[in-house]
Amino acid sequence: MTHELKRTGGWLLAAGLLGWALGHLWLALCLTLAALLCQHLWSLSRLMRWLASPEAEPPEASGLWGQVLDRLYHQQRLQQAQQQELRELLDRIQDSGQALRDGVVMLDKAGDLEWWNQAAEQLLGLSQPSDLGQPITHLVREPRFIDYFEQQHYQEPLVIRSPLADDRTLEFHITLFGANERLLLVRDFTRMQRLERMRQDFIANVSHELRTPLTVLSGYLETFSDHLHDLAPKWQRGLKLMGQQAKRMENLVEDLLMLSRLETTEVEYEQEPLQLRPLLESIRTDALALSEQQHPIQLHLLSDRPLYGSEKELRSAFSNLVFNAVKYTPAGTSIEIYWEDDEQGGGQLIVQDHGPGIEARHLARLTERFYRVDPGRSTSTGGTGLGLAIVKHVLLRHGAQLTIESRPGEGSRFCCHFPAQRIAGLLD
Ligand code: ADP
Repeated sequence: MTHELKRTGGWLLAAGLLGWALGHLWLALCLTLAALLCQHLWSLSRLMRWLASPEAEPPEASGLWGQVLDRLYHQQRLQQAQQQELRELLDRIQDSGQALRDGVVMLDKAGDLEWWNQAAEQLLGLSQPSDLGQPITHLVREPRFIDYFEQQHYQEPLVIRSPLADDRTLEFHITLFGANERLLLVRDFTRMQRLERMRQDFIANVSHELRTPLTVLSGYLETFSDHLHDLAPKWQRGLKLMGQQAKRMENLVEDLLMLSRLETTEVEYEQEPLQLRPLLESIRTDALALSEQQHPIQLHLLSDRPLYGSEKELRSAFSNLVFNAVKYTPAGTSIEIYWEDDEQGGGQLIVQDHGPGIEARHLARLTERFYRVDPGRSTSTGGTGLGLAIVKHVLLRHGAQLTIESRPGEGSRFCCHFPAQRIAGLLD
């Protein structure tokens, strides 16, 4: 820059001296300035022409313009190299996306198709380029998929029948990213579902087969225990234990059958909406009998809105929660049952106890089958370890959610939250 100033100053000085000597000082200065300006304009226009076609070599220039062109050329080269690197990376990502066996579909914020891989093409029957920019809900028209897609609750995957073949099932996972854009993963779930069905059938069959012999065993054991005093004392304890264990096995078989019914059948709604008062009062009566009147149990019906669902299943779920509160808290602990509205038009059933509570590390696993906080205590109370798994399944079938809050020493609160659609009158 200083060099350029010196050069301009030198020209002006020389022109000034020459003009002064010839008696035309101002004319000489103006002409020199005009010449310098023209030279800059010419360089500027060469720069503009080069920027318009950057692949060409930069024009030759010296002085300040030479430096400017050099710098621009250098930066341009750097940018081109970075662009090339990014392009290669993008190609590699696309190639690896193409190589995936699971289908991948990228959707923009309106839910229109932006990119997909070959597996998605085969699984969903997409075709290039006609489906590009089409809404995904026009291409996968299954109502459950449309609901799932629009509700944006993507924690759990969705399994539906393939739109291309009735005997195949697909599993969809959706992830939100960026500005409400979505990445949809789809995979063939047919084999997994077959295995799952085999597992369910196996458990259902075994439980069913065990039921009859167990009923016979329990029946005889009960008959024998009616004549306990006729037996020698050394047999009495054995007979009692056999009776208890047979009862435990019966409970286990009943719970397993209940779980497999919940997994394999559609929910059967009652014709009439379910009134919570009689249901909860009868559960309270059973719970008082279980506790031998040792637990004060209060019922707070803060809403008179009924619920739309299966009485048998809901009775089983609510009973499990109330019976657990009896089983896992010492005598004298008060238990409260609430049925109340929530702010979004839904309803919630809450079972609250003031017992020993549950440590935070167990909470996330409580609804797993056979998960027990204290296996010894659970077995001695006749627990099967399946109670909360049943509750979770029943609620899932009713579009409801179970939340568990508990602190050691302060008690536990089990809340079954039903959305507005499950409250009678609002279900379409
Ligand atoms: P179970 O049939 O053995 O009772 P559940 O699935 O109903 O099994 O419960 C799982 C575990 O959760 C129980 O073993 C128990 O340790 C714990 N639990 C459930 N309810 C309560 C409660 N109200 N207070 C303390 N612990 C509880």
